Amino acid sequence: MHNTRETRRKLAQPHRKAVLVALLCITAISGILFGIVNLQRANMPLALAELAMSAYSLFLLARVRRTAVLQRWIYAYSIPFFTTMMFALTTERATITVFGWVLLIPLLSHLLHGRRMGLAISVFYVGVAATIFLVKYHDAPALMQPAPILNMVILTLCLVTFSHVYEVSRERSELKLLHMANTDVLTGLNNRAMLQDVFEREEARARREATPLAVVVLDLDHFKDVNDQHGHDVGDQALIFVAELIRKRLRKTDLGCRLGGEEFGILLPSTDSRQAYSLCEDLRAALEGHPLRVGSIEIPLTMSLGIAELGADGRTLRALLASADHRLYEAKAMGRNRVVGPEQPAVADERPAPPAMLDT
Ligand code: GH3
Ligand code: MG
Ligand code: MG
Repeated sequence: MHNTRETRRKLAQPHRKAVLVALLCITAISGILFGIVNLQRANMPLALAELAMSAYSLFLLARVRRTAVLQRWIYAYSIPFFTTMMFALTTERATITVFGWVLLIPLLSHLLHGRRMGLAISVFYVGVAATIFLVKYHDAPALMQPAPILNMVILTLCLVTFSHVYEVSRERSELKLLHMANTDVLTGLNNRAMLQDVFEREEARARREATPLAVVVLDLDHFKDVNDQHGHDVGDQALIFVAELIRKRLRKTDLGCRLGGEEFGILLPSTDSRQAYSLCEDLRAALEGHPLRVGSIEIPLTMSLGIAELGADGRTLRALLASADHRLYEAKAMGRNRVVGPEQPAVADERPAPPAMLDT
């Protein structure tokens, strides 16, 4: 349901913004300093490029703090910045020390563009810088010695490698932390925080595309008895068993989560309450028909479910959960092991009560 690429981009935004702001401050100041130095050395083209870069940094500083399109500004800054650097390398009066700045490229491009684009940009600009170096100094024997060249190559490779490894591992740990923050430890289902996030996205889509959306709350019946009769560990196994049953029956676009205790929630995009009812009936019958097996013991489990539909029952997750919860308790009151939706009010039926615990 969640696009990892989009998630990665969102997660990286605060880091990238912080790096960009720091870089803009540094280049605004150093652009002025270098511009003045190069004006005094009468290196007009470079001085103008540096002063222009400084003015551009100040202009961007005012923009990037509140922008919704950060990555575009990052391109709009980093590409001219790296290109100015290349231009500086080609000017007649630039000293050899200017090449030291090239080492910033792998670091900055990884921090600003992430692992893939960061690597591509590093390789491109480092390649251009190496070409400029060779063209400029190929007939300077003092610089064309194997030892200094090897030094530079290895130093550059180290910076590219370390920046890349750092970025890959940062991204991986962030995704892992995000996964942990959104996952219920016992069942591996999503948790309520994730339900809130996904609901907001799906509610907006439902409004945009005029599609229905249903929310289900389900609760295991007499679960306290399972714990009391078989122990807490078996209770935990029952929760994992039910979570798996839910997971198996959901579409890729649905979201199942554990709301807490023995209560689960399901978000069903593009689903009206009638379709939700049929899925709930299917879940209810599946659990009723498949008792949990622990060793030689069969533990019958049942669930009660309440359904709410976006629109008729409100437009916030809180309102929908409240309506679904209300119907769930109607289902409990009517004898449990049943589904209550907006169009299927609770009616006492002829079904027998959930079976008693069986020892086989
Ligand atoms: P009802 O049909 O009315 O829902 O009855 P119930 O017994 O299921 O409901 P009740 O709210 O009385 O009890 C819920 C029980 O769920 C009590 C609590 O010990 C158990 N429970 C909650 N979280 C966990 C958990 O993580 N693991 C285990 N094993 N039990 C849990
Ligand atoms: Mg219960
Ligand atoms: Mg409960």
